[in-house]
Amino acid sequence: VNLNEKAQLEGISLLEKLFHHLLMNTEEGHEALEYLLDRGFNESQLNQYHIGWALPGWETASKLLEKKGFDLSLMEEAGLLIKRDDGSYFDRFRNRIMFPIEDAKGRTVGFSGRIIKPEKNEPKYLNSPESPLFQKNTLLFNFHRARGPIRKEKYAVLFEGFADVIAASETVSNAVATMGTSLTKQHIQQIKRLTDTVVICYDGDNAGTEAAFKASRELASSGITVKVARLPNGMDPDDYIQKFGSGQFKSEIIQHASSLMAFKMWYLRTGKNLQTEDGRLSYINAVLPEISSLSSAVEKELYLKQLSDDTGVSFSSLEEQLKTYLPVQEDIQVRNEPIAPPPKKTSILK
Ligand code: ATP
Ligand code: MN
Ligand code: MN
Ligand code: MN
Repeated sequence: VNLNEKAQLEGISLLEKLFHHLLMNTEEGHEALEYLLDRGFNESQLNQYHIGWALPGWETASKLLEKKGFDLSLMEEAGLLIKRDDGSYFDRFRNRIMFPIEDAKGRTVGFSGRIIKPEKNEPKYLNSPESPLFQKNTLLFNFHRARGPIRKEKYAVLFEGFADVIAASETVSNAVATMGTSLTKQHIQQIKRLTDTVVICYDGDNAGTEAAFKASRELASSGITVKVARLPNGMDPDDYIQKFGSGQFKSEIIQHASSLMAFKMWYLRTGKNLQTEDGRLSYINAVLPEISSLSSAVEKELYLKQLSDDTGVSFSSLEEQLKTYLPVQEDIQVRNEPIAPPPKKTSILK
């Protein structure tokens, strides 16, 4: 056991308890508690996720850690404190709602702190800095709690924000979130040990849609079956749950997730005007390579029909055009050689 790491985990754990106590039981934490209850978190969620409150003062944590005999330079490395030029230390997290971030073993390894009323010059969320204990490229929020439910339900739900994970937890316990970074190979490998199916449920804004498209490619290329749950325009899962409840969220959004291909077609259609020949052509040229990469003949037919309905181009013309896209061959892919030549640019609208 690494003794420095052990001390850091103890320091983090001490602050977690302090923050949680300040939120739940003190006058100073009252406004934050009201805010959290107002936005729909209940007391049992606040307890289960050990949510807390960091006071506005500069030295609440540093004084406590010092009093308890912690090595403050180790606490600095753990991201809890910041060192001044004169060698003294002050608290990194002040005046923020504190969300403990736990690793795959369930140990709290860092925090994300949210300002109640974000202003322009300050980030809404402040995370622990990268350290040996806190590595965003591998951390998945809620992973240690979701492990059992993911195995049991045979799929995982992937959210953009950890607030969404907490908000959905009453009905969707098989959920994890990245820490504001894009999905990495390490994240995917951890999920893959538990299940072969992931439902992506990112925010219903442009950024969320783009990120979902990217994540879907990464997951699919790792051999995971991807579904995409889409939210009404501009809403994130937490907004939806606040408005409609977590029961409806599960039954209407998660359980109605669309197939990856249906999501791709919707995504590739956005911003294109299918009333114009240009719009239809560019939509078709974007979708056909995706269809050609499907291995199931039934699915190919299904989505060709859909494409035909969307564009008014006959099924047989689309099918003819599809032949110009060579199938992606597994063995060629493995040898990392060029896969398919670009498709012939013949118009199929005439
Ligand atoms: P809330 O509902 O409290 O506003 P959210 O979960 O909707 O939070 P988003 O703005 O959608 O937050 O961001 C999603 C995720 O991106 C957050 O959970 C956080 O991990 C990360 N994130 C967002 N803003 C910041 C920031 N300013 N600095 C660091 N990380 C951030
Ligand atoms: Mn967002
Ligand atoms: Mn969000
Ligand atoms: Mn939100």
